[in-house]
Amino acid sequence: MPHPRYPLGFFPTPVMPMKRLAAHFGGPALYIKRDDQTGLALGGNKTRKLEFLLGDALSRGRNMLITGGAAQSNHCRQTAAAAAVAGIGCTLLLGGDPVNEPDGNLLLDELLSATIYWDKENQRGEGLEELAEQVSQEGFKPYVIPYGGSNATGALGYVSMAGELAEQIRTGDYPVDHIVFASSSGGTHAGLVVGKELHDLKAQIHGICIDKHEGKGLPYREMVRVLASETAVKCGVDIQFKAHEIILYDEYLGEGYGVVGDTEREAIGLTARLEGIILDPVYTGRAMGALIDLIRGNHFSKKDHILFLHTGGAPALFAYGAEL
Ligand SMILES: *Cc1c(COP(=O)(O)O)cnc(C)c1O
Repeated sequence: MPHPRYPLGFFPTPVMPMKRLAAHFGGPALYIKRDDQTGLALGGNKTRKLEFLLGDALSRGRNMLITGGAAQSNHCRQTAAAAAVAGIGCTLLLGGDPVNEPDGNLLLDELLSATIYWDKENQRGEGLEELAEQVSQEGFKPYVIPYGGSNATGALGYVSMAGELAEQIRTGDYPVDHIVFASSSGGTHAGLVVGKELHDLKAQIHGICIDKHEGKGLPYREMVRVLASETAVKCGVDIQFKAHEIILYDEYLGEGYGVVGDTEREAIGLTARLEGIILDPVYTGRAMGALIDLIRGNHFSKKDHILFLHTGGAPALFAYGAEL
């Protein structure tokens, strides 16, 4: 791929069996790919996207990354770190109100010296273009990264991850029939479905919806489908994905985005106790909770090999102590 890429992470991330968790349910076989260990400022899935986004920004001579999200956004924290690595600026637009004693990801945003603006209502990066305008008037050359880093450039990170995983499966001693992960702004999902085609990955891709997406433009499945088609074009292949090729589960939304319920609490507890692996309260706790429910409901065969993609997020735990 001719796309500029700036190295930020440690790759390949490890794949490990989760034998005690699998035994707890009496099968299927469970594996985990540790994209929480990508290495950039406590890691996470945004590191892969940012390698391509930062590469693009620098190739265009930009010197200020601008993005937005929730106050505990993992994406914003990794973007601030990427800017620090490259020696350029980072401006964040976060949902909510200024905080006196920052914790979790917000504490890290500050340590990474991002400039932070607050926008009460919006936590999905609405208003980034306006902020970019202001930042250019201050004399910077801004590069706007959309919510979650999820455009076709960011999704290239997960096209490439599919290649990395296909190679790990070829050289390892485990097949993978299904990949299960938290899907929220669509870049991870779109990248994986394109990468599956390009790198001949056999596994089915199962996204667990984390956020309701109601009244926010296209329905989520359609958003992922369109983004996957755009990402394919960027990779120089013309694949028009169909709606049924995007596998999504939207029955695990609980009380909404970022609200910890029994599903997340059980999943985080079991994974910690049986595997010594720390999930996060917003994304991977919910996605693992969904996987556990699907296993209990015999959605998968006991003979299947299932890989859980750990997308990171644990720094947010430290802002969720009261709810866990
Ligand atoms: C952003 C994020 C996701 C969702 O990935 P998308 O590409 O936005 O769908 C999942 N898990 C964690 C920990 C994240 O920070």
